[in-house]
Amino acid sequence: KVIVNIPGEEAYDVRIGTGVLDALGARMRGVPSLEQAERVLVVTDENVAPLYRDRARESLAAAGFRVPDIVVPAGEDTKSVEVAGEIWEAMAHLSLGRDCAVVALGGGVVGDLAGFAASTYMRGVTLVQVPTTLLSMVDSSVGGKTGVNLTAGKNLVGTFKQPAYVCADTGTLSTLPEREWACGCAEVAKSAVIDSDEFFFWLVEAADALAAREEAVVSEAIARCVVFKADVVAEDKTESRGVRECLNYGHTLGHAVEALAGYGTFSHGAAVAEGMRFAARLAAALAGASLEFVAAQDDLLDALGLPALAWSAEPADLLAAMKRDKKARHGQVRFVLPRDVGSWELRDVDDAVILEHLEAWARSKE
Ligand code: NAD
Ligand code: ZN
Repeated sequence: KVIVNIPGEEAYDVRIGTGVLDALGARMRGVPSLEQAERVLVVTDENVAPLYRDRARESLAAAGFRVPDIVVPAGEDTKSVEVAGEIWEAMAHLSLGRDCAVVALGGGVVGDLAGFAASTYMRGVTLVQVPTTLLSMVDSSVGGKTGVNLTAGKNLVGTFKQPAYVCADTGTLSTLPEREWACGCAEVAKSAVIDSDEFFFWLVEAADALAAREEAVVSEAIARCVVFKADVVAEDKTESRGVRECLNYGHTLGHAVEALAGYGTFSHGAAVAEGMRFAARLAAALAGASLEFVAAQDDLLDALGLPALAWSAEPADLLAAMKRDKKARHGQVRFVLPRDVGSWELRDVDDAVILEHLEAWARSKE
């Protein structure tokens, strides 16, 4: 169990382990705002529903909740204003009041979408996150960002809404496809590099066991990531102080790779790993990172099943894609650059410097 304590918010528990899903209802009764609650709406997607919805509902029913549910299509396209609207309408149709709770059962798509619906319906009802992907356990279920995509870009509309409880049942990961597993591993590696020597070298040792999904290592990796993310969010709850931007390590180039290759061509994790490899090289040139660090991170990503992509694009096209990202400020592309494990800086990097390094990176693959 990890307790997340963010200034100005109710502290909440994150339970991690096999079987914690079966105690979901009982644990939720321990949340003050849910002691008397009658109904909870389970939001899940069509892949997760046949696997885990009944177990979630049984646990909730055993704790005395009535449990309507809504099943949304799986996939990123579901994170839309339209589907959020369907959830609001369903909630109103069920006459759910401010005392209800929304349980987001699924990956980051369901978590962001259901979190958004929960934070806006009647100006906000209680949210419980039940993440079922490695990525959502290590990253998206904690920290309070919710949101939907617009045609103009991802996550352009959203809220900050901390969950009242997070239930990460590592048993549910047994059905996760390999590609989604690697996605989560990229965020674990990202967290370890930014966090500390201690986390990084633990992960170097544990990488093979994590790739093989050994339960004890999986749970520990999740717990370490949750502690790391909670610390970052506690310092910068609303992403206004620059601290939270470290979570974007590897994502500057990663997002550009995803967009240029076409969404879905590479997994988000594969693209982020590529972005970490590139950012580390940039950091060696600009921020004093050592070549040993670059090599150690390469080895870690290899061990986690995240090899360098056998793909490259025109540097000018990658640069243009980075500039289209909403995180570019005044046309300047910004990178999180590790000086070393556990130490990083934010840097606006000139176009010419980025192009020069993108060319070198592409040449290194020839
Ligand atoms: P996802 O929710 O699309 O899940 C990936 C796939 O796995 C889906 O097809 C899903 O149906 C399936 N799935 C989920 N759990 C499963 C299980 N246990 N067994 C078998 N299949 C399962 O994707 P994701 O990678 O979990 O999340 C990505 C989303 O998270 C993106 O929209 C991203 O923007 C968001 N995100 C949010 C934050 C945040 O802070 N809020 C942080 C990072 C990412
Ligand atoms: Zn990511």
